[in-house]
Amino acid sequence: MSDCIFCKIAAGELPSEMVYQDERVVAFKDIRPVAPVHILIIPRKHIPDLTAITEEDAELIGHLHLVAVKVARELGLADRGFRLVNNCKQEGGQVIYHLHYHLLGGRQLRNLC
Ligand code: 5GP
Ligand code: ZN
Repeated sequence: MSDCIFCKIAAGELPSEMVYQDERVVAFKDIRPVAPVHILIIPRKHIPDLTAITEEDAELIGHLHLVAVKVARELGLADRGFRLVNNCKQEGGQVIYHLHYHLLGGRQLRNLC
């Protein structure tokens, strides 16, 4: 997707503070952090939102979760705990329509609802 900012970040065409990358998944710091650790984890593949995943993406989504735990561990959150969040579509609070998960931690997080 040529006009997607997360595709551009994944391709290195827009700057970001990368904390992890491989051939399928990229993780970088959120530009407006809401916690001491606030990382965005995305597939390189442009998937607009969580409802757009298919059976074909099952392995990719599994891999993305393994990356999330690896990054959490490297940032010292594996024992303390953390939150992995996907905002899906309008009522879920999604703003950027390229699938992403927020990895949040480094402080006590309040209940969501
Ligand atoms: P959403 O509400 O779609 O789940 O979250 C989008 C997130 O992307 C927000 O937390 C926002 O701060 C972050 N964000 C938006 N634009 C950029 C950007 O250009 N670079 C980075 N690193 N984060 C961004
Ligand atoms: Zn994209």
